[in-house]
Amino acid sequence: MKFYYDFHIHTCLSPCADDDMTPCNIVGMAKLVGLDVIAITDHNSCLNCRAIMEASKEIDGPLVIAGMELETSENVHMVMLFPDIDRAEAASEEIFKTLFKIKNRPDIYGNQIIANSDDTERGRLDQLLVVSSELGVYDAVAFAEKYGGVAYPAHIDRPSNGILGILGSIDEDMGFSTVEFSATAPDELKKEYKSRGYNIVSDSDSHNLGSLSDRINYLELDRLSAEDVIKAIKFIRSKQ
Ligand SMILES: [Zn+2]
Ligand SMILES: [Zn+2]
Repeated sequence: MKFYYDFHIHTCLSPCADDDMTPCNIVGMAKLVGLDVIAITDHNSCLNCRAIMEASKEIDGPLVIAGMELETSENVHMVMLFPDIDRAEAASEEIFKTLFKIKNRPDIYGNQIIANSDDTERGRLDQLLVVSSELGVYDAVAFAEKYGGVAYPAHIDRPSNGILGILGSIDEDMGFSTVEFSATAPDELKKEYKSRGYNIVSDSDSHNLGSLSDRINYLELDRLSAEDVIKAIKFIRSKQ
């Protein structure tokens, strides 16, 4: 079966995302555009994932996968997806301890709102999330797997925080089976990575409600669960 996805969505916790990227708004919009599964990927944190999963259950919305967009020590962005909220929060806690510690300046970077599932505010995070962690690119896959998850480089076609723009290439030893492209990535680049045996994932990297993916990108799965999605993304390259 085809399941339409968008695995890269920021919430009001990411300072660079709109404040109305709240749990009810995100799952409501995802349902409206017909997505079957979404992943929540705030910068270096899974703090809003639980509320969004609960909000989606309330409206019989899409499956929500708990994830984060890690910034490595090299400033490379990576999408991480986890099989359940408990392991996602544990991973998030570990990453949080390794973040470069600097106080958020909402007037410069934006608000970091921790939300409840009914869109009320639970609090605001003082420590800035848009900084690099101590985790390096070569350690990201093993870190995600420790929590049952998967890691792959985000928006590799983009110069800012994309792995190609920063490191120049993707090394086999990094252990990635999948790479993510942004919605505007050139077809030639996608073709190149496909021919090299990578799974291709295309996401919106939404920071506002209007930019969630339409029903365009899909995964073929027998059934839909976070575990099945992670398994599909980990698909061994040599078998393709
Ligand atoms: Zn990014
Ligand atoms: Zn992002």
